[in-house]
Amino acid sequence: MAARPERRRKVALAGNPNVGKSTLFNALTGLRQHTGNWPGKTVGIAQGRVRRGREEFLFTDLPGTYTLDGESEDERIAGEYICSGEADCVVAVCDASCLERSLILALQVLERCDRAVVCVNLMDEARSQGVRVDLKGLERALGAPVVPTSASRDQGLEALLSAIGRVCDGAPQAPRRWEDPVRAAEDLGRACVAREKPPEGWRLTLDRVLVSRRHGIPILLALLFLIVWLTVWGANYPSALLERLFDGIYGLLAALMAPAPWWLRGVLLDGLYATSARVISVMLPPMAIFFPLFTILEDVGYLPRMAFLLDGAMARCGGCGKQALTLCMGLGCNAVGVTGCRIIDSPRERLAAILTNAMVPCNGRFPTLILLGSLFFPRMGAAVLVAGAVVLGVLGAMGASGVLTRTVLKNRESTFVMELPPFRRPRIGQILVRSLLDRTLFVAGRALTVAAPAGVVLWILANTPLLGLAAAFLDPLGKFLGMDGAILLAFCAALPANELTVPVLLMILTGGGSLQSVAGLGGEALLAAGWTWQVAVRVMVFTLFHWPCTTTLQTIYKETGSIGKTAAAFALPTAVGMILCLALRLVLG
Ligand code: GDP
Repeated sequence: MAARPERRRKVALAGNPNVGKSTLFNALTGLRQHTGNWPGKTVGIAQGRVRRGREEFLFTDLPGTYTLDGESEDERIAGEYICSGEADCVVAVCDASCLERSLILALQVLERCDRAVVCVNLMDEARSQGVRVDLKGLERALGAPVVPTSASRDQGLEALLSAIGRVCDGAPQAPRRWEDPVRAAEDLGRACVAREKPPEGWRLTLDRVLVSRRHGIPILLALLFLIVWLTVWGANYPSALLERLFDGIYGLLAALMAPAPWWLRGVLLDGLYATSARVISVMLPPMAIFFPLFTILEDVGYLPRMAFLLDGAMARCGGCGKQALTLCMGLGCNAVGVTGCRIIDSPRERLAAILTNAMVPCNGRFPTLILLGSLFFPRMGAAVLVAGAVVLGVLGAMGASGVLTRTVLKNRESTFVMELPPFRRPRIGQILVRSLLDRTLFVAGRALTVAAPAGVVLWILANTPLLGLAAAFLDPLGKFLGMDGAILLAFCAALPANELTVPVLLMILTGGGSLQSVAGLGGEALLAAGWTWQVAVRVMVFTLFHWPCTTTLQTIYKETGSIGKTAAAFALPTAVGMILCLALRLVLG
């Protein structure tokens, strides 16, 4: 057994968004916290321990901020923590490739703490851009140890830990004060940074094209379309393969369980097994394609540019580019998007963003959109439709926030500072690990833990008159909205996880019979229930605009602390969905 540490130190990591703080934190503590190439995604506070000989460091990863005395939630959290004196040492993490800017926060940290270390991260990137930093000169000017690191390559970590140890053990550093930290950082930048070659031309050219008014939006739409098309089209084959595999296993299990009573076979095979198998074969392939592609965009640094492009449009709706970022996060998971709204400064804009985030389809709703799209609008049609659905969701969220901020939530706007990090070469290994293990399997696992028991409950309900009765009860409302009772019930039953909508729907429509084959039987079951493409369109619209799942609602409650606001987040998208479905019924018939 390892000896008990003799000394425990609390160390806080502070820095601008996107300087590699999370990467550094993960490399030091060995924890795997989500990191991505967009500003502001370190939300909340992560903690992790590092043992080094007799010493133990408890690291706290503060939210990334540009200043310690700003007004946003993140800035407040970081500022208060640093001023509280809770930490034995504060590490100000800077970006070597644009030192001037990240030094502003470092100077603020040094003014407030008498035990601090300055970590100049991204040294490898600076080097490859021909940027040289005079570390010794910087150390003298700052009056605190300066340690170079390349966190993503695990370089400089040992030196950083020993510098932290020395600062904790040594005498407090002399007090420091800069009249104007912005000017001081510029002066320091001029004195301590040398550019040996101009910044790489291709990055600048790429940026000029990607964020230009003329090309930016078409490229964004094309990329979005490409991703969705690859997801829809690429998932067909593995989905069919998985189905066949699960069908085979079903046959084997059925033969094995032949002597068991019918209800046990029903509960285990048709309830538990068939529902789980269906969720996996429908969800896993699209996610295993969508997430890596999305993660590549995130990793190369495209997402902030996407937010930048959308900023003008967002501003016209009374929103801001930061909200565009939270909408992008919502594409993965609305609960993440809602938490991400902490980066929005003005409380009212933040509330509008929270209330409307669930209007962008999270990945739990992609399977429904993709399935309906490919059933009713085969081939390319499905990809166009699903990409269109994403655009519609974003427009809906923007429009609704616009209405909210102009009416119920009239208030001042917040300023928008968005940093565009440099394009970075994607790290394929990490992308695969992060998107397949952290996201795909995580989401599939979460869906399964809900789907498996739900399958049992639904089978029992389906084999009693209850499910049919409930569907019949909802039918008038469903028909009124241009859908039917079964799908409304499926939306209700999928409250714990949107992934459940299609499996539950098929279960209701086929009365809980054995349902091994999704796509084939799904199509037949829907046609048999009288679904037309018009119904499918309305269901897709309602998939975009209805109540958020329980996880998201819980998160909204945590973020706002208000039942009323949580109820509003439930009611708002639902009302929008109902109105749109009614309108579509009038238009399409
Ligand atoms: P945070 O917002 O400060 O937490 O930044 P992240 O840790 O998410 O890092 C932002 C991006 O920079 C990610 O794509 C990281 O992989 C990348 N990154 C972080 N540290 C380094 C480094 O030392 N060198 C290089 N080349 N990339 C890095």
